[in-house]
Amino acid sequence: MLETQDTIAAIATPPGRGGISVLRISGARAAGIAVALSGALPEPRRVSLRRFLDADGECIDEGLLVYFPAPGSFTGEAVVELHGHGGVVVADLLLARVIALGARQARPGEFSQRAFANGRLDLTQAEAIADLIDSGSAAAARAAARSLSGEFSDRVGGLVEAVTTLRIFVEAALDFPDEEIDFLADEQLQRLVSDLRARFTKLRAAAAQGAILRDGMTVVLAGRPNAGKSSLMNRLTGEDTAIVTHLPGTTRDVLRQEIEIDGLPVHVIDTAGLRGDADLVEEEGIRRARRAMAEADRVLLVEDATGDDTGLAEYETLPAGVPVTVIRNKIDLTGESAGVARGGDRTTVSLSALTGEGIDLLRRHLEEGVGYRPEAAGALSARRRHLDALDQARGHVETGVGHLESGLGGELLAEELRLAQQALGEITGAVSSDDLLGRIFASFCIGK
Ligand code: GDP
Repeated sequence: MLETQDTIAAIATPPGRGGISVLRISGARAAGIAVALSGALPEPRRVSLRRFLDADGECIDEGLLVYFPAPGSFTGEAVVELHGHGGVVVADLLLARVIALGARQARPGEFSQRAFANGRLDLTQAEAIADLIDSGSAAAARAAARSLSGEFSDRVGGLVEAVTTLRIFVEAALDFPDEEIDFLADEQLQRLVSDLRARFTKLRAAAAQGAILRDGMTVVLAGRPNAGKSSLMNRLTGEDTAIVTHLPGTTRDVLRQEIEIDGLPVHVIDTAGLRGDADLVEEEGIRRARRAMAEADRVLLVEDATGDDTGLAEYETLPAGVPVTVIRNKIDLTGESAGVARGGDRTTVSLSALTGEGIDLLRRHLEEGVGYRPEAAGALSARRRHLDALDQARGHVETGVGHLESGLGGELLAEELRLAQQALGEITGAVSSDDLLGRIFASFCIGK
């Protein structure tokens, strides 16, 4: 179980220089620490300007202090927020002082985990916070915001209710064994089952789109120099989005680009970066890029349609087992027409990165490859584990109905419905193991 007695603290804003830095404290000692640090506790939920003092009464920083008494806070515990200046040293000094006053450094995701433990959020909402922060496109952010507001949890709740209604119906019938009941012929039962199936199908589709938005698509970009790789990337991103993300201070820049196609985040790994100057590219970066390549959704092998150098040599070094799409680029020079040709284990798309002819075909092809439907509204940010739980729950319902159809009793259906409820409970955290919770929250960032 959680050690909710101790008081945790962390800098909640990203490290580095900035206008402000927010330090968050949660736990029973939060108020005491605020008093020791700044003299007096302000009125709850009111912002007040304070000087934050060190042990000798010297000013470490001046900033805003907000106090949220339990349980009306993000975590459900007493929370104090200190909004100081965003300097690396000053923020660290403040954190050290808060720790000296009796808090301990929070682990990643620990604030959210406490919020979950205290019933302030359910598990999908906590996950949605992480997804909102990590979202790679506007569409992904909207899906996460929808889940954060509780829409996903509500829909799962609706499913649980539908399963429960069916279960009650079946169990009530079982309680009267004298009245021989033909479940299969029962209209109400049929109606409940088909309502349940429709709910499953709709929620599964919304969650699947959300999972695609969350994870995006990873594409390996390969081809000879001058084949048109950079031109193609610029074309694909369209006008509104060039490179969406630059992760500062890592060599990943050399190898990776984040682009967006119709709202779908696309992680591009450029193999040109792998061949680059060994001094420029850290070995760790290469190792990571190779691993990402092996797990990629697709390889785009760009060829110059005017030359006879097909880039096949490049093909040899590509990760095995990842679907390959050959891009026949520069058709404006050869007079070929744009098109998609499927053959064997690879698809060829003929296009011109220069004129843009055929680019839409490639976009559709990439979207289809991961099952993304940009026109589908109402995606709910979801994770693999949610999809698995939904599938499991539906599997139990279908197994139960199958039992009825093969002439077995309603007891077996009732049992499968119980298992379905349990699987659904794992989504929102109503049923969860400490191990699962540990894994989920450990992937969050510190201060969240
Ligand atoms: P990279 O080395 O593979 O990234 O190739 P670039 O994108 O830098 O393109 C190499 C050259 O080919 C540039 O001069 C581009 O303008 C040109 N190019 C790229 N795509 C096309 C195309 O579809 N048609 C024509 N005519 N030129 C292209």
